[in-house]
Amino acid sequence: MANIYNFNHFNDLNSFNTIELILLSLLFLSIGSLTSLVIYRLSPHSSEKINLFFPRSFCPNCNKSIQLIFLIPLIGYLLQKGICRSCKSKISIFYPVTELIFFLMGIYLIFLYGISEYSLFLFLIFTFFYILFFLDLKFYFLPISINILLILSGFVSNYFFYIFIDEQLYLFNISALSFSLYGFILGYMSLWVVNFIFKSIYNKDGIGGGDFILFGAIGSIFGPVSLPLILFLGSLLGSISYIFYKDKFKEGLPLGSFLILGSLFYFIFKNSELLGFSIVI
Ligand SMILES: [Zn+2]
Repeated sequence: MANIYNFNHFNDLNSFNTIELILLSLLFLSIGSLTSLVIYRLSPHSSEKINLFFPRSFCPNCNKSIQLIFLIPLIGYLLQKGICRSCKSKISIFYPVTELIFFLMGIYLIFLYGISEYSLFLFLIFTFFYILFFLDLKFYFLPISINILLILSGFVSNYFFYIFIDEQLYLFNISALSFSLYGFILGYMSLWVVNFIFKSIYNKDGIGGGDFILFGAIGSIFGPVSLPLILFLGSLLGSISYIFYKDKFKEGLPLGSFLILGSLFYFIFKNSELLGFSIVI
């Protein structure tokens, strides 16, 4: 059975012509640009008059609309030399860096998997992870809308395409749907129970509700057995970051961001067969 862990056909980028590669690059850069816009507009400090579609892009410092030419990903930033044309304030480096990361990630996935359901779902999940990672890191906020999109990606990719299905399926003799369902329930319930115990001792929430749903979403993608290791990796990375950046985490650790990092490491380890149980099935 083909899944993401035993896919071994490397797609050569030479199979695309120059025009196709330019168009794909523009697409990935634009998705990066859109992603940073979504992060900005979903953030809790953003005003109520702002939604995903309105108003058109503006400078957050002087509120002036940005000319169309400067909205071109990466090129717009370079043309403006990183400062707003109207008020001369610095444009955050986060925007061009995000565009570049999405460009590189898109091209890398196309190189590995060609234009396929693998690249599509990995790119989608990467995008949702990216949004949640920064919103949680900066604002301790995990919007339900993105969490739901992540859960849907987990269920659809596994139920219809078997993308992340692995030995767990045979270990427990379960269906692809149960793989995602058990993953979701275990992820959600485990953090809920931890919080319930914490709350009954300290009389306050120790973990945010968004974290339960996010961990459930991670379970729906990688299955129930992956969760202890992802939680361990996330906690380890969180503890290390806390030691080095204690001042930055005064309001506590953004658990969601570290669960996302834990998931990424889990995926990389498993994909490079470092975990030793990626048998071909
Ligand atoms: Zn400005």
